Amino acid sequence: MVSEEDLIRTVSEAFAQGWRQVKLYFMCGLPTEEDDDVLQIADMAHNVIRAGRAASGRNDVRCTISIGGFVPKPHTPFQWAAQAHPDVVDSRLRKLRDKVNSNRKLGRNVGMRYHDGEPSLIEGLLARGDRRVGRVIERVWREGGRFDGWSEHFSYPRWVDASAAELEPLGVSLEWFTTRERDRDEVLPWDHLDSGLERDWLWDDWQDALAGREQDDCRWTPCFDCGVCPATGTDIEVGPSGTTLLPLTVVNPIRGNAGTGG
Ligand code: SF4
Repeated sequence: MVSEEDLIRTVSEAFAQGWRQVKLYFMCGLPTEEDDDVLQIADMAHNVIRAGRAASGRNDVRCTISIGGFVPKPHTPFQWAAQAHPDVVDSRLRKLRDKVNSNRKLGRNVGMRYHDGEPSLIEGLLARGDRRVGRVIERVWREGGRFDGWSEHFSYPRWVDASAAELEPLGVSLEWFTTRERDRDEVLPWDHLDSGLERDWLWDDWQDALAGREQDDCRWTPCFDCGVCPATGTDIEVGPSGTTLLPLTVVNPIRGNAGTGG
């Protein structure tokens, strides 16, 4: 629930105070996402440069957009979601780069950092796989896989081939674990592990996400019964507490003292 207006106001303030570069972080491949959602990142980056130039009076401000492929994780509302295929993520990021550069005057001040979609798909396999995926990991290792978190060592074909060899005889596949949406009744491999969050609450939150319904911060609203506080014996600080948690105005003690004659 952070609007683009909030973002532009904040970066304008930072540029006005002398900062010359901002970095913005995004994810690509979120459920229900379409090309246009990602292409709007280019408009936002261009607007950041415009705002930075206006606030600083300089042309050399920079905006770096850093984008990771979205990987659904257990114990989150997206544990049922279909992960986007690497071809979809890569194609969206290519279109985004073209759109950023389509305005040369603004685009030359925008940098882009992103990873290919393929490692994210393997991360998705490891994140939501069950014990059958252990065979894939062992096979990749036996065939020379080491330090796969380093791009120069990562081999996507090795993972694809090992998945085909080990999973298909068992009636499942790399896609079955990653790009397939699960339904509510499916028993998930981590359902016996208690993270404190209730499954029904996670499902409702997943439905809210699909419908684009925003969820308020539970410190300022009635409790949504997600289950965490009772499960962990926690009482979170609920508001409005009347206490200002962060100083919203800079306090200058020297000036303050001078003003009182101290
Ligand atoms: S108050 Fe605690 S139990 Fe209620 S929604 Fe927030 S974190 Fe969950």
